[in-house]
Amino acid sequence: MTRARTPRPHEVDAARRDERLLRAFRDRDRDPGWRTRGLCQSVDPETFFPAPSESAEAAVALCRTCPVRGSCLAWALEAGDLHGVWGGTTARERRAMAVVWRSGELGQLAPVTAATAATDATSATGAAPAGSPAPSMDRRELLRLVNAG
Ligand code: SF4
Repeated sequence: MTRARTPRPHEVDAARRDERLLRAFRDRDRDPGWRTRGLCQSVDPETFFPAPSESAEAAVALCRTCPVRGSCLAWALEAGDLHGVWGGTTARERRAMAVVWRSGELGQLAPVTAATAATDATSATGAAPAGSPAPSMDRRELLRLVNAG
């Protein structure tokens, strides 16, 4: 069994700007019954636990359209080092997100999570895929969206 490596600083920084993480923070206490509404209920569970040599894209793609992806990811981040795809993220991505999640800095950015809601509205128009990372969006851009909204 291989030991998971510690996320690198650039991975943690990317996680900090990831809309999926902001959504998870926003939705963390929103829906205690999220498990019963996940789109994966009707899919072979093995899809969400690909072997190391297999792609996770099929599961990640389904998660992008799942209405409870924020709650699902929040649960996985609280649970700790889980395998498989949760909330549209791989275990490797979550390791970097977990550093930010546990740091407490998301609480300081709480108003910024409104930007995620704005992005949800945008993605509903097809302008951007829901749940995808926003590599070009920095903290300043998030604040601009909040102030504009
Ligand atoms: S986000 Fe993905 S793993 Fe989580 S409930 Fe939805 S479909 Fe299932």
